[in-house]
Amino acid sequence: TAQAGEGKTYSIGTDITFAPFEFQENGKYVGIDMDLMAAIAKDQNFKYEIQPLGFNAALQGLQSGQLDGMIAGMSITDERKQTFDFSEPYYESGVVMATHQDNADIKSYEDLRGKRVAVKTGTEGYSFANSIKDKYGFTLVPFDDSAQMYQEVVSGNSAACFDDFPVIAYAIQKGLKLQTVTEKENGAPYGFAVNKGKNQELLQKFNAGLANLKASGEYDRIVANYLGNNK
Ligand code: GLN
Repeated sequence: TAQAGEGKTYSIGTDITFAPFEFQENGKYVGIDMDLMAAIAKDQNFKYEIQPLGFNAALQGLQSGQLDGMIAGMSITDERKQTFDFSEPYYESGVVMATHQDNADIKSYEDLRGKRVAVKTGTEGYSFANSIKDKYGFTLVPFDDSAQMYQEVVSGNSAACFDDFPVIAYAIQKGLKLQTVTEKENGAPYGFAVNKGKNQELLQKFNAGLANLKASGEYDRIVANYLGNNK
């Protein structure tokens, strides 16, 4: 087609660190989202540039038109659908609470009364914690990225944090001193996003490329490369 391989380089926002979806390794951004994006761009013959702005900053960059698209373990929520158009879902997720691995006192949301709870601005984890904070009587302490939020709980400054289950589980498996003690909440799956009504050709290419990667087995290889069999 006329557009294929032509000049445009899409600017794609992502999170600073959200392993196994995006994180730095030897100065390079890797992860499931990063590998999917690369494989889809190759399959659909377009150019792009990754902007690791942080989750909330990327949301704002996308909304203001500074970014063409966003891939950041971003949940397809009904609220966001008013502002963004999403690809087909590509990964199941959901929010879960985590506490320090040595903490035996906090086993439920009731145990959070009077405590500080670390959250990450702009995320589903934040929205969920915010929706129950009055009922359970805890205070939110917001951070811009997951690493800082986890550190807040590891250091004992906050009693718990809320983040996506696959991300916390991966971090714990890699040695982060947290534990999950409650069941995960139902969550929305991840999707690639563009501004509502904008960059529809990019969205179509993402969907077409994703379908090809699923059909060829490449999608499964990318996920298994980071998660082995525990996906
Ligand atoms: N999945 C969550 C959301 O969309 C968190 C994403 C993230 O922190 N990168 O709100």
